[in-house]
Amino acid sequence: AMTRYSPEGATPAMAQWFALKAENPEALLFFRMGDFYELFFDDATAAAAALDIALTARGSHGGEPISMCGVPVGAASAYLARLIRRGFRVAVAEQTEAPRKGKGAAKGPLARAVVRVVTPGTLTEDELLEPGRSNLLLALVGGAAGTGKGRKGKAASAAAQAEDTLGAAWIDVSTGLFETAQLSARNLAGLLGRLDPAEILALPTLALGDFEGCRAPDVLVPGIEAARQRLASAFSVASLDAFGTFTDEEAVAAALAVEYVQRSQAGKLPRLAHPSPQTDGGILGIDPATRASLDILRARDGGMEHTLFSAVNHTVTAAGARLLAEWLAAPLTDIGRIAARQEGWVWLSEGTTSRDGLRECLKKAPDIARALGRLSLGRGQPRDLAAVRDGLAAARACAAVLGGLHANLPPYLARAVSSLGVATGLQAELTRALAEDLPARLEDGGVIAAGYDGELDGYRGLRDNSRRIVAGLQADYATRFGVNTLKIKHHAQLGYVIEVPVAASARMKDRDDLMFRQGTASNARFSTEELSGLDARIAEAAERAAVREKALFNALADTVLAEQDVPVLAKALAVLDVLQSCATLATGGSWCRPVVSDDGAFDLHACRHPVVEAALPKGTRFTPNGCDLSPKRRVMLLTGPNMAGKSTFLRQTALSVILAQGGFPVAAEKAHIGVVDQLFSRVGASDDLARGRSTFMVEMTETAAILNQAGPRSLVVVDEIGRGTATLDGLAIAWAVLEALHSTVRCRAIFATHFHELSDLVDTLPRLSPHTMAVREWRGQIVFLHEVLAGSAKKSWGVHVAKLAGVPTSVVERAGRLLRELEHNNATGPKPLPLFDTQKILPQDEENTLRKRLVDLNPDSLTPRAALDMLYELHKEA
Ligand code: ADP
Repeated sequence: AMTRYSPEGATPAMAQWFALKAENPEALLFFRMGDFYELFFDDATAAAAALDIALTARGSHGGEPISMCGVPVGAASAYLARLIRRGFRVAVAEQTEAPRKGKGAAKGPLARAVVRVVTPGTLTEDELLEPGRSNLLLALVGGAAGTGKGRKGKAASAAAQAEDTLGAAWIDVSTGLFETAQLSARNLAGLLGRLDPAEILALPTLALGDFEGCRAPDVLVPGIEAARQRLASAFSVASLDAFGTFTDEEAVAAALAVEYVQRSQAGKLPRLAHPSPQTDGGILGIDPATRASLDILRARDGGMEHTLFSAVNHTVTAAGARLLAEWLAAPLTDIGRIAARQEGWVWLSEGTTSRDGLRECLKKAPDIARALGRLSLGRGQPRDLAAVRDGLAAARACAAVLGGLHANLPPYLARAVSSLGVATGLQAELTRALAEDLPARLEDGGVIAAGYDGELDGYRGLRDNSRRIVAGLQADYATRFGVNTLKIKHHAQLGYVIEVPVAASARMKDRDDLMFRQGTASNARFSTEELSGLDARIAEAAERAAVREKALFNALADTVLAEQDVPVLAKALAVLDVLQSCATLATGGSWCRPVVSDDGAFDLHACRHPVVEAALPKGTRFTPNGCDLSPKRRVMLLTGPNMAGKSTFLRQTALSVILAQGGFPVAAEKAHIGVVDQLFSRVGASDDLARGRSTFMVEMTETAAILNQAGPRSLVVVDEIGRGTATLDGLAIAWAVLEALHSTVRCRAIFATHFHELSDLVDTLPRLSPHTMAVREWRGQIVFLHEVLAGSAKKSWGVHVAKLAGVPTSVVERAGRLLRELEHNNATGPKPLPLFDTQKILPQDEENTLRKRLVDLNPDSLTPRAALDMLYELHKEA
């Protein structure tokens, strides 16, 4: 964007700006000038608009004024957060040289360098992060295209790419998480949905679908040899094999991610866990459309409130919330691992004291992982060391509550607890080293406790001593110079000075023992040799104390980072928090421990939709429903009108699988689930319309995806297949899809439809079990009972629902009459189209008609005459 400005003829400071901008053309440049980060040219225009701050101008360049805006350094985080959220990247250029003082100082601008490029995937500050969610940077390397062997770079055809294997590596800079995986290109969308990365590194040839907006610019993929070497050196090992087996694609992706992180931190690599290759086999497949329809971590409205996450979340720490989100996003398929998690929380739910005690201890545990992340980048603050100290203490307290390290716990819990007793020495050290009241920033001083370091105490003593002497001088000088309003003050530039009113200064000007320093309108300032000496001593002692304190702080940070057990302990605390959360949920009585088995079982008793249930108005009870999809009746056909609760039922069944396989309690009285390998849910309107695809096209694309991918171990829940086209068309399609699910795919499925005709398929499809939503008619009104009953609906309720929705009575009535006519004409032909109520004509409700007319008229658009006419007319009718 900056190409239209040439650096030619720039002032020295602007020349520096141009040079730094050229290094980071994709980012806004925060150019440090004193207490501000200034932005110039187009950067300024863009930032001023995004931040809603004033755009000014400064000097001129090429005959035009230079646009400028700035943000105060102290408040930079908040502005950064807003810019990042709006999709900007920001390069932060600091002054790398202390401001020069005095007259003899060299001319020209201070040296500056970009110390960091802030991008969505490389954040560490709490102000920029969501505490309860990971913030992932994902690198993707496309098969042979990206590894430097075989086919080179360029245009891999779309078809060839679809068969490619991809290497993926993801890093959470804020916590040090580092994982890799190998996957086939067709599973990419699933991985993206699961990880929900903040930023993606990939060659432009690799399409990212919904995540296109997360793509980082200018990605350079290293070759495989360079990649393996870079990783080995980043982790100081001879070969990457030390951490597991990585395919070439995984290694290249990992190197790409590491390199990007390093570049964003101006060469510094944060503390990262060893890259750990994940075998995707153990995870329940959830495709993006399914994820979108189930509101697992984020709701369709973009919020967090009405989500599965918030319905089950009882964690008390940010790390616990992150892990809970991870478990929900990637449920397991290994019944052993699922059972291990279950045993953990079942044990906790049985012992109230240990659970409550554990929760209280966990509440005191700060976010160790993110503190470590900042410390490792040299961006740590006193509170980050305190977080480690308090986290270690909290960990020990947690272990104690659970009966100590040798208690007889179920294995999963025991493993977590065994990680808590580490780093005792470090805890003691931090406790001794850190002052009781910590300042927000290291520069504020007073971080290290008195008595921890003799040298520091010495400097502080000198400083405080001299300060005391200075304080004592004021009275002395007042007497000596005969001015009782004399004050000793500290000035930023002058240091300690004597300050007297101008009136009193005349007689002091001639004294040899006083040096005149400065006069203002009302005051005169002097110094003495004694005062200057003390001033220098104080400044020097303070300076030395600050340097020493910083060194001690860094040493402590290094000690913390060297302790390999601390991240393990942090993870263990998160595990305990999630298990505690599950136990809390299970203790309420309405959640159960599901049986998860390796067969085709599927039986839910009195199951609920936790999110819908929580959102019901007070006094309304959620109607629980069972769901039996056991092998003999593995396909359920569900009929019933809109609003009867079909979608809710479908979703709650899918959510129960996610919960059960995530190792969580399930919102049911009893649940038995044979492991599902892939979950497909197509419920609720798709919002793809905005992208210009018709509803029907979207529906068919998604149907195709299911039929092509689902297998006998999958669970498919679909709502209203075939609604987007003409009735007969739709019926035919729904019919064929149902047959395919039943007889070809042979999966477990719930198929919701308004085509009652499909119920007749029961005779030809032996595993099909027809069900219907109970609906009752009461005084001409329709009442939804939300109950799933065996059997098929006798009639359709379209007319009733239309009325309920506020379709004018006249239209509803007309529809009823038309329907009877259609039925009559069709008596011998094919079945009536299941569009309207066949039996009941609603009585005219006069009061409603009158009301309707009043509601419909627009007083603002009536002339006085028309209004009067209307009044007469209404009066006559009433
Ligand atoms: P459909 O998919 O048949 O149109 P929904 O599943 O969207 O119907 O349900 C409509 C509304 O009915 C929901 O928003 C909820 O308020 C209520 N509801 C659904 N199922 C139940 C239930 N089992 N118990 C109580 N209320 C329910």
